[in-house]
Amino acid sequence: MIAVYIETDGGSIKKSSLEALAYGADLAAQTGDQCAAVLLGSTSDVNLGDSGANKTLTITGDALSTFTAETFAAAMDQACAELDAHTIIISNTYNGKSIAPRLAVKRNAAIVSGVVSQADTSTGFSVRKSCFSNKAFAQVAVNGENRVITLIPNSYEVKSFGLSASASTSAYVGPQATVKSVSIDKVKGKIPLTEAELVVSAGRGMKGPENWGMIEELADILGAATACSKPVSDMDWRPHSEHVGQTGITIKPNLYIAVGISGAIQHLAGVSSSKVICVINTDPEAPFFKAADYGIVGDAFEVVPKLIARAKELKTA
Ligand SMILES: Cc1cc2nc3c(=O)[nH]c(=O)nc-3n(C[C@H](O)[C@H](O)[C@H](O)COP(=O)(O)OP(=O)(O)OC[C@H]3O[C@@H](n4cnc5c(N)ncnc54)[C@H](O)[C@@H]3O)c2cc1C
Repeated sequence: MIAVYIETDGGSIKKSSLEALAYGADLAAQTGDQCAAVLLGSTSDVNLGDSGANKTLTITGDALSTFTAETFAAAMDQACAELDAHTIIISNTYNGKSIAPRLAVKRNAAIVSGVVSQADTSTGFSVRKSCFSNKAFAQVAVNGENRVITLIPNSYEVKSFGLSASASTSAYVGPQATVKSVSIDKVKGKIPLTEAELVVSAGRGMKGPENWGMIEELADILGAATACSKPVSDMDWRPHSEHVGQTGITIKPNLYIAVGISGAIQHLAGVSSSKVICVINTDPEAPFFKAADYGIVGDAFEVVPKLIARAKELKTA
């Protein structure tokens, strides 16, 4: 059995988990196996058959009402034992990254993190993973029967499988958490950066925080998340949660629009896997243009308002 951890946020299933489920379902089809979706703490009546699951297992219990790596890894371990799962797919989100190594130890499994494409099972089991801050890829052969794979969000397509999944529920029997979230302050009404398919990002070329109105307006019209370079968050022009790059968040959206960002190697480390990169910069020699699919040599204060106007026209047309 292949087990896939399904992460929820406020009761909704994260898109990155549906990608992981599609990955698990395709792998199961490839190896003649079955694929199970594992929900933790959620009692909602979800059927993930269409997203690729042959079976849905929900582990319930008060200990799973808020996320802790300790209890969620223990609950996944319980689910994998009940399912007799040998391969576990987890999206490489913050929560996923904290569960995966604990689970690998519990299951005595090999772990490969940051996987970007489907496993090659023609001879043995090997996967392609990103390494050195996305500057290189490695093909990794996995020995042994038990494996934990963490899949980079936006590396795999969500698909419709048209299956009908059987559902079961088990009570959590693992340990209680030794640490507990007392309160969580969430940014409201914004598209999470790691989940976003479109990202509008800006750097020091914007001159100051007062000029971010047009970046936010462009992002709103496009339905995009906003991001920024490190110096921008260091200077408190923007929140640290928007900082992308080697020391910030790694993202892989379908479209990354970079406004007034030079394209230093540390910035590129977090965004270079974006499917399409569009760069707006006054300096034709800016390094970012070398990594760009589309480049506009121009002043952000002229180009961005024109993009906003055109996007509005297209939206109303
Ligand atoms: C260990 C280490 C880790 C780091 N980690 C990160 C990281 O995770 N993320 C990150 O971003 N950086 C990181 N950095 C910093 C990185 O090296 C760069 O200094 C930083 O990315 C530069 O930010 P910037 O492009 O916004 O600013 P700048 O380098 O100042 O570039 C501003 C750009 O805006 C352009 N510009 C100016 N005016 C306009 C205008 N009106 N319209 C359009 N364009 C304009 C300029 O031509 C220039 O290219 C790290 C550095 C180190 C040493």
